Formats: sequence, C-alpha cells, structure tokens
Amino acid sequence: TFLPALGLLLAYYFYPTTDNFRSEMLQGKRVIVTGASTGIGEQIAYHLARMGAHLVVTARTEAKLKKVIAECLKLGAASAHFISGTMEDLVFAEQVVIKAEKLMGGLDMLILNHIEHSSLDYFNGDIARLRKSMDINFFSYITMTSAALPMLKHTNGSIVVVSSVAGKITIPLLAGYSATKFALDGFYSSLRVELQMMKVNISITLCILGLIDTDNAVKAISEVMENLIPAPKEECALKIIEGGVLRQEEIAYPFFPKFLLWNPIRMIMEYFYFLNIKIDKFNRK
Ligand code: NDP
Repeated sequence: TFLPALGLLLAYYFYPTTDNFRSEMLQGKRVIVTGASTGIGEQIAYHLARMGAHLVVTARTEAKLKKVIAECLKLGAASAHFISGTMEDLVFAEQVVIKAEKLMGGLDMLILNHIEHSSLDYFNGDIARLRKSMDINFFSYITMTSAALPMLKHTNGSIVVVSSVAGKITIPLLAGYSATKFALDGFYSSLRVELQMMKVNISITLCILGLIDTDNAVKAISEVMENLIPAPKEECALKIIEGGVLRQEEIAYPFFPKFLLWNPIRMIMEYFYFLNIKIDKFNRK
C-alpha cells in the first residue's frame, strides 16, 4: 500500500486547481473577514467587494473600518457592514458571528485573518502576554469557527485560516506568535479530517504566508532582518480568496514556501493513522 499511497499523495499535492477560479464564484456569497481594517484583511475585503460579495468586516478601529466599508460599497459589494471590538474578548468573537448571521441571513465563508500586533523579541517569561496572544490569534479563531459551523454546514461553506511560515517552521524571536500559528495548524488540520469523517461538507484552507508588504509586518521585520523582499498584499489577498473558493487544504504565498515546507513524512504518517481509526465504531458511540 505504500507506493500507491505515496503516488496518490503526490498527485493530490501537484494537481493544478487555481486556473478554475472565477470571480463570479463570489457573487452574492456571504463572507466574514476578520482583521480587515488594514493590511491583508483590508485587501481581501476589497477583492470580495469587487466580486459582488456580501461582507461583514471586523477589527478594533472603528474609524478605519468605516472607511473600508465605504470603499467596499464603492467597489461593488452586495452589502457591507462592520462590527468593531477586540478578539481578546471571546464573547465579542462569538457575537460577531451571531450579528453577521442577522445582517447577512447566513454565511458562506469565514476568513480568519486578524493577529495581535507583535514585534520580534526574546521570550521574556511573560505568560500573561502569551495567554493574550493565544486568545487573540488562536482561541478567538476557534470561538468564531464553533459559532459559524451550523451556518457553514447549511451552505457547504468554507473556513479560511491565515497562518504563516512561522506556523510550519520555527523562527527565533517569534516564539509566542509562532506557537499561536502552530496551534492553528494542529487544530484546523485535525478538524478538517473530523468533518470529513462526519461527512460534513465544510472546507478548511490553511494559508501559509511568507513576508508580505503590510505596514506592520515590514516595520517589525526591518528592525531585525535584512535582505527580505516582501510580496504584494493585494496579490496575497487574492490567492487567499482563491484557495478558499477552490476548497484547497493549504495554500502557500509567495509560491516558494510550498515546496520548501512540504512535509511528505507528516502526510504519510497522518494517512496511516487515519487508516487505523475505526470510523464506523466511533460514529456509533
Ligand atoms: P496587520 O497588522 O496589517 O493587520 C492586523 C489586523 O488585525 C488589523 O486589521 C488589526 O486592526 C486587527 N487586530 C489587531 N489586534 C486585534 C484585536 N485585538 N482584535 C481584533 N482585531 C485585531 O496584519 P497583516 O495584514 O500583516 O497580517 C494578516 C495575517 O497574515 C495575520 O494572520 C498574519 O499572521 C498573517 N501573516 C502576515 C505576514 C506578513 O508579512 N504581513 C506574514 C505571515 C503571515 P485593529 O488594529 O484596528 O484592531
């Protein structure tokens, strides 16, 4: 079984799918975008608006969100609303989904993109800070996902989780951030298989990003690293949407990390662990 399994994995990995994307696929779709006041999230909102989607965007800064909404409506969004607040508050995270349901009447895609602002530094033993990072960058994602699952089941919808190269390989000076991104991979890669086991047709796309030219990232990185050329946030945002619509399990942007980060040993081990689970017995419990 080893060689056929490996063959299947390779075929699955290299099978080209991105050329199937058409912007009409987003026409009238109902989407939540988090962290949409700046950076990649803001660009995701603008692309979705041009494609005619219904949008609920969220972040903390109301003034910025108002501008994003106005721009989205100009660009052609079917509707656009904002909900402001902090994802440190998990009740707020849940409320965003509940309010979005009232505003849009359902949900087709949940794009989880926000992060707490952090700079590169040595880990200094500040556990309270690490807990806060986990709340914002991880637990709020899970809270929103949990609240959105019934709606997404209804629409055979999609969850898009924006992660990082630092969620696949370790990078010094980013221990806390990296931990939150590794946690996302662990949770969502497992949840994806659980949904398949339960025959629930919700896709989960994990987005592995290299350095992107958002103001906050460029400022944080330039203090510590040299010779890195950031990729454009506009194209990055489009690749994230494409990955979600085409229901890809993982996308990498820019392209090079996909090859460098591919871990065939992990895929093979996951496959064999999966084969050993007695799904029928478990489902009858
Ligand atoms: P930005 O710092 O530009 O934007 C972060 C967004 O999150 C803003 O809209 C911000 O708005 C919001 N936010 C921050 N804190 C909170 C909070 N407590 N509650 C709710 N919202 C909050 O980030 P990027 O666009 O650069 O990154 C977007 C995603 O891409 C992240 O998941 C990041 O990890 C990932 N990524 C980015 C890379 C890059 O080089 N840019 C590289 C790898 C991954 P406000 O301040 O108004 O709340």
